Amino acid sequence: MAKIAFIGLGNMGGPMAANLAKAQHHVSAFDLSDAAVAAAVEKGAHKASSAAEAVKGAEIVVTMLPAGKHVREVYEKDVLPNVARGTLLIDCSTIDVESARHVAALAEKAGMDMVDAPVSGGVGGATAGTLTFMVGGSETSFAKAKPILEKMGKNIVLAGTSGGGQAAKICNNMILGISMIAVSEAFMLAKRLGLDAQKLFDVASTASGQCWSLTNYCPVPGPVPASPANRDYQPGFTAAMMLKDLMLAQQAANAAGASTPLGAEAAQLFSLFVNSGNGAKDFSGIIKMLDGK
Ligand code: NAD
Repeated sequence: MAKIAFIGLGNMGGPMAANLAKAQHHVSAFDLSDAAVAAAVEKGAHKASSAAEAVKGAEIVVTMLPAGKHVREVYEKDVLPNVARGTLLIDCSTIDVESARHVAALAEKAGMDMVDAPVSGGVGGATAGTLTFMVGGSETSFAKAKPILEKMGKNIVLAGTSGGGQAAKICNNMILGISMIAVSEAFMLAKRLGLDAQKLFDVASTASGQCWSLTNYCPVPGPVPASPANRDYQPGFTAAMMLKDLMLAQQAANAAGASTPLGAEAAQLFSLFVNSGNGAKDFSGIIKMLDGK
C-alpha cells in the first residue's frame, strides 16, 4: 500500500482516485470543489483540506487538472515545496508540452521523479480502470509509475522523454478531430447523393475509408448503436475538450515549425461549433453543423 496524494477530482480524477483507493492504497484527496472531495471520500479516499496538506508525507502525487496553468500553479506552489526528495510525481492532465517540460524540469531540480501521463478512454475508461496512459519521462520514472497507472488503466505506453506523453496525446487527438470531420462530411455527401447511411457504413467500414471515428464512434445514428449519435450527441468526449486538444496541437505545431493545415482547419471548425453553444455536446455532433443545422 502506497501513500498517494490525488489532486483534481473532477470527471476523470474522481473515478481514477476511487480505483487507487479500491486497490488498497491510502489516497489523500484534494480538489477546490468540496463536493468532489466528498464524492472521493465516499469511494474510500481520505479528505485533505488543501493541496499542500494532501501531499505532505506522500510517496506518490497524482494530478488530474484542467490545463497547463493549473498544473504549473499546483506544482510550483503546493507540491514541490511540500514533498520529500524522491517522491514520484505523475501528472495525468492533458496540457501543453511546454508546461509539462517546465514542471518536470523543476521537479528534477528538486530531486523528484516526474512523468507526464495523459490519458485516453474518457470517463467510462476512468471508471472501469481501462484507460490508456501515454507516458513521458525517464525509463526509471516510468518503471516506478507503471504499477500505479496499472490500477487505473490497461494500456501503459512509454511514449518518450519528458513531454512525450503530451505529444502523443495531442497528435492522436489531432488525427481524431480531423477524421471525425472527414467521416461526417462523407455521410453528409452520401445523404445529398441519396446513398443510405447504413450502406455507406457497410462499405467504408470494410474498405479503405475505415477508421475509429467511423467504426467505433459513427456520427450518424444507427450503424454503431453505442455511439453518441444515438443519444442526441450527449458526451462521450465533449466538443470543448476536442477544441482544447486541437488548440494544444496547433500551439505545439507553431512552436515546432510543423505544417498541419488540416489540424488548423479542424481547430477552426470545432471553434465555430463550440462558439455556437455546442461545447457540452459530444464532438461527433459537429456533423450537425456540417449538415447546415
Ligand atoms: P474536470 O473539470 O471535470 O475536473 C478538473 C478538476 O480539477 C475540477 O474538479 C476542479 O475543481 C479541479 N481543480 C482545478 N484547479 C484546481 C486546483 N488548483 N487545485 C485542486 N483542484 C483543482 O475535468 P476532467 O474532465 O476531469 O479532465 C481533467 C483532465 O483530463 C483535463 O486536462 C482533460 O483535458 C483531460 N481528459 C479528459 C477526458 C474526458 O473525457 N473528460 C478524457 C481524456 C483526458
